[in-house]
Amino acid sequence: MELKVGDIFECPEGHEATIVWISEDKKVIAVRCPHKHFSKVVKVADTKSAMSRHYPRKEREIYVENMVFLIKM
Ligand SMILES: [Zn+2]
Repeated sequence: MELKVGDIFECPEGHEATIVWISEDKKVIAVRCPHKHFSKVVKVADTKSAMSRHYPRKEREIYVENMVFLIKM
């Protein structure tokens, strides 16, 4: 099946993504996925209670939307 720009293709996390670019040799494609992708968790110290012995740490999760993935065919 011939893939073309604009077609739906599964992103590495299993969402429906759109093909935005295909290499000339058709060995690599780029898909843009509108879904949220978990990127990382950063731990940030709660500065208000930083003086206490066991101060709580807030965790902030970073999600990225509209990621573009390069996929080798
Ligand atoms: Zn996705």
